[in-house]
Amino acid sequence: MSNLRFQALNAVLTRNIPEVKPPAVKVSDYYSSNVFDKKKMKEFLSKEAFESISNSINLGVPIDREIAEQVASAMKAWAISKGATHYTHWFQPLTGTTAEKHDSFFEPSGDGGIEKFSGEALAQQEPDASSFPNGGIRSTFEARGYTAWDPSSPAFIIGSTLCIPTVFVSYTGEALDYKAPLLKALNALDKAAVAVAQYFDKSIEKVNASLGIEQEYFLVDLALYNARPDLYLTGRALFGHMSAKNQQLEDHYFGSIPERVIAFMQDLEIEALKLGIPLKTRHNEVAPSQFECAPIYEEINLAIDHNQLLMDLMDKVARRHNFKVLFHEKPYAGINGSGKHNNWSMITNTGRNLLAPGKTPKNNLMFLTFFVNTIRAVYEYSDLLRASIASVSNDHRLGANEAPPAIISIFLGSQLNDVLDEIETSRVTSKMKQESALWTNIPKIPQILLDNTDRNRTSPFAFTGNKFELRAVGSSANSANPMTILNLIVADQLNKFKVEVDKLLKKGEKKDVALMTVIKKYIKESKAIRFEGNGYSDEWAQEAEKRGLSNIKTTPKALDVLVAEKSEKLFEETGVYSKRESHARHEILLENYYKKLQIEARVMGELVNNVIIPAAIAYQTELITNVKGLKEIGLGEETYSAQIDLIKKISTHVNFIKTNVHDMIEERKKANVIEDAREKAIAYDEKVKSYFDPIRYHVDKLEQLIDDTRWPLPKFRELLFLK
Ligand code: ADP
Ligand code: MG
Repeated sequence: MSNLRFQALNAVLTRNIPEVKPPAVKVSDYYSSNVFDKKKMKEFLSKEAFESISNSINLGVPIDREIAEQVASAMKAWAISKGATHYTHWFQPLTGTTAEKHDSFFEPSGDGGIEKFSGEALAQQEPDASSFPNGGIRSTFEARGYTAWDPSSPAFIIGSTLCIPTVFVSYTGEALDYKAPLLKALNALDKAAVAVAQYFDKSIEKVNASLGIEQEYFLVDLALYNARPDLYLTGRALFGHMSAKNQQLEDHYFGSIPERVIAFMQDLEIEALKLGIPLKTRHNEVAPSQFECAPIYEEINLAIDHNQLLMDLMDKVARRHNFKVLFHEKPYAGINGSGKHNNWSMITNTGRNLLAPGKTPKNNLMFLTFFVNTIRAVYEYSDLLRASIASVSNDHRLGANEAPPAIISIFLGSQLNDVLDEIETSRVTSKMKQESALWTNIPKIPQILLDNTDRNRTSPFAFTGNKFELRAVGSSANSANPMTILNLIVADQLNKFKVEVDKLLKKGEKKDVALMTVIKKYIKESKAIRFEGNGYSDEWAQEAEKRGLSNIKTTPKALDVLVAEKSEKLFEETGVYSKRESHARHEILLENYYKKLQIEARVMGELVNNVIIPAAIAYQTELITNVKGLKEIGLGEETYSAQIDLIKKISTHVNFIKTNVHDMIEERKKANVIEDAREKAIAYDEKVKSYFDPIRYHVDKLEQLIDDTRWPLPKFRELLFLK
């Protein structure tokens, strides 16, 4: 008797650990070797072409045809020298994964053929856009969308393919991807932040947002994964009784990493470093079989491309080690989920981190300006930030007593919290005539903040010394979405700040007094969003309600704000989304939500009917045979009463499961005929999803009753503890 589970268990026990060898001893000898970076550009391009392209990248000006032609030719020469035969435009459609369409360099002709790659092929490609989500922007008959080169993110080679990072837009110019709106938001932030930074330092000409992404994930043996259709179809275990041992001993976090996992991590690091992804840390996470990796922070557009690339890479490298990476936010109920902390700050072309407290009071005024504007922005648009992290899988995490709640709040740490309180109650007024009086009213900000900034892990948005950390992002998400919103709202806030300060300056106010006056006002206005306590507690939910903060627990409703008038205005004013685009995105997100629930509901039905109930009945039949036998040889009831009890219990659970799956399918049918995407998503959430937990409860009871050798699905203890 060998069901798939036992075959899989057998496979795990006989695994070999593949040998991992770095291409050189020193990382610097192979770092970025598969990237057409600045160094290679310099080597393969003429001096003029190199300067022209660098200039275009730094200032974001369009690249002219002639230069594109030269860059294409250089890229081709470099790629072919590295063994590449194909090229592709690499982009991030709204499916949440990355996409590519490979074309060969080779072009046959009468006398054989040559390798070709034109400036035009570099700049633009036309993948058939009809099968990517577009939220009704394009009907399928006009299936033309195109990808356009993003020169600010360097091309790279994977296998034998040259990959060119691109944006993906519809023929009518609307964004169909994550990158296009992100670039627009970054541009908005750059302009707004430079304008404000110039109050302090005229030499500041550019502000880049920077981002360091911590990526959490689970590893599971590939054979076990393949024996669980729920895992490979939905990314999470729809059933499974909690393992007797799980994370209660807290013995996994920062524990020693198992040998097989170390090999995977080393292999991953080598591949990532070759692609110029500066992976730096690796460690165990809270849950068994949960890990984290994080690169050093980079310019935000690049950091996001790198995170998307890293996720692809993790998947590929894991295969070589017979692992599967689970990016789902909550693959195992009852066990900690996974997130993707987004560490964000703003850095000037002069190398100054605008969120790092300075040495002098004057520097601190600059810090306070950007710090307080960020807080004010999050306060003003907390619902948009909440919407930007909403997804069907992240709903399992947010507010589930282990991840930040669905209430957006900001943690500052006691030192900075005190500083803001002091300013709020200080006597700074626009009537202050003497600047010296002002400085005595600006509290001292310690340059090195005590480590308490990182202790509060329950906050969705925390200040951690010289950056803000958005912790509510889901592990499977593309960070571009929340980062587009964050940069956009801070840009908008800085624009408003400048208007207010300029107004005071016009009235003849001294600059520093004007700045401080508006800062003080913002501190007052945004006070409700600051929270230093335990974000997981019930008291906080009550307190937040009193403060008027929203607590929207599920995605379909959290997304409403995307099409609210205030958001439309913000999107259109900053040019990040047209009304058509934001409405299309809203639609896509809702579709994604109910489609994923639809798949989960179907998988649940199939597994119950074809796998779980048959296993339960087979065991029950065995018990019945046993009871009959005992009776036949003349033994009394006391010898088979336990079996009768089991037989009855199995019937109870089977009946419950059977009826509830039936009822769930009926609800699904009703939901499926709803036209409106929002109503459909809500029906799936409230009417269909509500069956999941009760069905699961009874399936998990069966798992505990039935003969272990008959249970068909790998159990939690096996998924989580077999190394
Ligand atoms: P943890 O939050 O787990 O303590 P670290 O302090 O090591 O982790 O940092 C997490 C991430 O934040 C890393 O990717 C790091 O490079 C990044 N980071 C550090 N400083 C900044 C900054 N100024 N802007 C953006 N990211 C930063
Ligand atoms: Mg962190």
